[in-house]
Amino acid sequence: MEYAPHASIWFPPAGLSFAAFLVMGVRAMPVLMLCSVIATFWVDSMYQMEHSWLQNAFSGILFGAAHCLTYWFGAWSLRTLVRSLSDEVLPKAILSFLIIGSVTALSAALLGTHALAVSGMIGSNEVSDTWLPWWIGDLAATIVLTPLFLGILSWRYPQIDNWLSGLSFQLQDQPLQPYLVKQAICIIMLVAIMLLAYLFPYPEVSFAVFFLIIPQMWMVYTETAFRAALSLAIFSLLSAILVALLGLMEQALVYQFSIIVIAASAYFGLAVPVLAAHNKQLSKLALSDGLTKLANRTYFFERLEQEVTRSRRNQQSLSLILFDIDHFKQINDDYGHTAGDTVLMQIAENIQQDLRQSDLLGRFGGDEFMLLLPDNDLQQSSGTAERLRQSLFNISLEKAPRRLSGSFGVVEIRTTETVQQAFERADANLFQAKRQGRNQVVAS
Ligand code: GH3
Ligand code: MG
Repeated sequence: MEYAPHASIWFPPAGLSFAAFLVMGVRAMPVLMLCSVIATFWVDSMYQMEHSWLQNAFSGILFGAAHCLTYWFGAWSLRTLVRSLSDEVLPKAILSFLIIGSVTALSAALLGTHALAVSGMIGSNEVSDTWLPWWIGDLAATIVLTPLFLGILSWRYPQIDNWLSGLSFQLQDQPLQPYLVKQAICIIMLVAIMLLAYLFPYPEVSFAVFFLIIPQMWMVYTETAFRAALSLAIFSLLSAILVALLGLMEQALVYQFSIIVIAASAYFGLAVPVLAAHNKQLSKLALSDGLTKLANRTYFFERLEQEVTRSRRNQQSLSLILFDIDHFKQINDDYGHTAGDTVLMQIAENIQQDLRQSDLLGRFGGDEFMLLLPDNDLQQSSGTAERLRQSLFNISLEKAPRRLSGSFGVVEIRTTETVQQAFERADANLFQAKRQGRNQVVAS
């Protein structure tokens, strides 16, 4: 798919070299050097240059050094940079990949054309005409194919997934058929647009290829990273083949840029689901208690305010229970703090199982818990507290073989009081339960 002498519209080896150096580092050098030398002999026979064996070997080594050293250095820089990133890794990694990939392809094109000139494969006056198409061809393939090759290699080298911080190339159980339909739509659209450019040979028509960004982004947002990368590879390979088949070389630059721009946009799209999942995880962490994973104070009070408003609007009752484990310090003293932590987690798990979906259990701090019961009046919530008091007693502790008990303060939130006032009343009831000898429920 040659596009200018010595430059291809799309040069897949650039993507392969970059991916290989990214995964294997300098260990990829011998094989890639050998490939470069073989390629030089191939080019010599393709152009019927009839250079001597020695001259081809010399050119091959020089070209191989230019190609391999640049891609190795680019990959080494990218790897070092990505490893040094600490937060929001993926978007930064993608940006670094696009920038370093572009500069690396440019350096490879400049050094590669000069290497060919020095070794006499091309005339030195050809360098200025060759380096630009060479660069764009290398760049299109580097940008499109490196992630795909990384994806393929990640089956053998699973550490790449960690390295890409959440961007998993592994196929999940996503159905194949919708993907094939989307892939078929992409292919049909591309063929139709290229045929249009063939039938109406105005330069403007070729820009229609940028419409392919729509199905490609659809793919990115709905399919796995691997399938999205595969789809980009198919799109770019097919573009290159169609440009050659339909003789659209005049507009080759438009097609090359469409490949580069669509692929670059798609990679940022790939980062979106990872970032969304990351955000979800962060907000979950910010709203839950670190030890028991129950709602923390911030989240509990936020929900309490919402529930108060809702229950008043719907004229429903709403109750609040505070409870504290009796003599919890003794467990720490007798069995150690780690055992105490395990007991707290076990309490949270057991109580949670006893509740309805709409109830909200939170940890106030220490061994004190809080429970919000929507649509429960004082009588119902006192019953719940009594039930929980008994189930606390029935928990068999793994780390501390003894019976647990708790003291409970229960209130039904009045329409005339604030959240703060209701909370203080519940706390006073809890205090009274403790004062009256613990292991009991006080409700008012
Ligand atoms: P009371 O019957 O009066 O409630 O007696 P208590 O021993 O339970 O005392 P109190 O509720 O005042 O103190 C709670 C103790 O729980 C204090 C601290 O040693 C322990 N504690 C608080 N937070 C944690 C925690 O996260 N892990 C562990 N292991 N212990 C905790
Ligand atoms: Mg206590």
